[in-house]
This record gives sequence, structure tokens and C-alpha cells, in this order.
Amino acid sequence: MRKPIIVGNWKMNKTPSEALEFMKGIEEVLTGEEAADYGIGAPYVDLDVCVKNAKNLIIAAENCNEKDSGAFTGEVSVPMLKEVGITYCIIGHSERRTYYNETNEACALKAKRLLADNIIPILCIGETEAEYDAGKTADVIKTQLAGSLAGLEAGEVAKMVIAYEPIWAIGTGKSATKEIAEDCCKLVRDTIKALYDEATGDAVRVQYGGSVKPDNIKEYMACEDIDGALIGGASLKVDSFKEIIDATK
Ligand code: 13P
Repeated sequence: MRKPIIVGNWKMNKTPSEALEFMKGIEEVLTGEEAADYGIGAPYVDLDVCVKNAKNLIIAAENCNEKDSGAFTGEVSVPMLKEVGITYCIIGHSERRTYYNETNEACALKAKRLLADNIIPILCIGETEAEYDAGKTADVIKTQLAGSLAGLEAGEVAKMVIAYEPIWAIGTGKSATKEIAEDCCKLVRDTIKALYDEATGDAVRVQYGGSVKPDNIKEYMACEDIDGALIGGASLKVDSFKEIIDATK
């Protein structure tokens, strides 16, 4: 049985004081008894305040560097995240792939390094609108998965979360239909079964992301191969994230 996982991705939003305000508002709705995991991905400078004020919420970083230390100005390493108390880390988000040239190879190195410190990677994949229109979605999913999981063992992949986020649905309000989301999340699982084995594909948790809101989360969560969601805009306000929690717990 896979435990559902719903994570907000704040992206480049919220100062530490705004993060604190959010944490105070959201923690009261979680008891720790929920059937699903709930979390927030926050900017580096917010992580400490989020971890210190989180009782039942997972706190994720939005990126990491695969090296432990050295002359890499502006970067943050896994040991740094570990010491702050981070347990999950988003990697390969389409915004990072597009604006900061994050490659599949880099994702594979980051995933390996995170898992070595028991931090669970949330690996994002997904196609552009042009690729979708050209019928290339399945190829993109398979290529991104094969590249981003290169060098990882089955036992490592089984612990991971994969977020299928079609780029055309991110921040557009144009969410994928539940049929498209389910087909693609199933393809993610089947691809992992083909790359590894049946048990690994059955264990990995697959999220859908792209314009998930309080009013559509339930239909995604009802799909067999969708184990959760990665949520941008609707995770920024306590009220809407609360509604998402209420709709799924
Ligand atoms: P939106 O929910 O704002 O579409 O963002 C999705 C996303 O990119 C989450 O990582």
C-alpha cells in the first residue's frame, strides 16, 4: 500500500517571516494521524524556520547540489540540508530544467547523493506543450526517467517520489484531465517496472502536478496510479492548502 503524498511547492515565494506565518496557520489542521503525508517545499532561507515550526508537515528543499562542499558559489549541499532537518528534496523541476539547465544527468547525481543521506528525492518530469501536441509525451517521460534514474538501484528508486508535471499545465489553470494524468502516471510506474522490476514500480509514489486546486484534487487522488500531487499556486495561501488537506484526509 502506497501512502499518498501531497506537497506544496512555494517556488521563489515567501520570506522567512511569511513562511512562519503560514506554518502557524497550517499546523493546527494536521494531527499526524492523517492517512497521507503532507509537505511544503520552501526556498533555502525559509527551511530552518519551517523545520522548527513543523510538527506534522514534511519540509522539502527545492534543489540541492550533488557535491558535499567546495568552490561552488551560491550552491547548497545535501549535508547542509540534512543538518537543518530536511527529509525530502525536489529535483529536476521543469523551471530548473528550463532556466538553470538542470539535466537528467544532474538529477541522477542529486538523487543518489540525497538518498545516501536518507533524504527522499521528489523527481519532477514532464513534457512541453509542443511535445504534447507532437505526440511525444511517452518518449519524453521514458527518456527523462531513464536519464534521471541512471546509476540508482531498485531499493533506492522504490523510496523516491516521481512528480509527473506536464509543463503546459503548470501555472496555466489548464490542468490535465484525470484521464491524461492517470495515463501518464501509470506510464511512469510501468517505465520503472521495465527499468527495474514489478515491486519497485509498485512501491514508487507518483504525483501529478499542474494547476491542482482544492476543487480538482479529489478526482486526481481517486486515480489508481496517482499517489498524490505537487502543488504550486494553491499551496501559497493557508486557506487553499487547508482546503486541499481537508479534501484528501
Ligand atoms: P501550479 O500548481 O501553480 O500549476 O504549479 C505546479 C508546479 O509546478 C508544482 O511544482
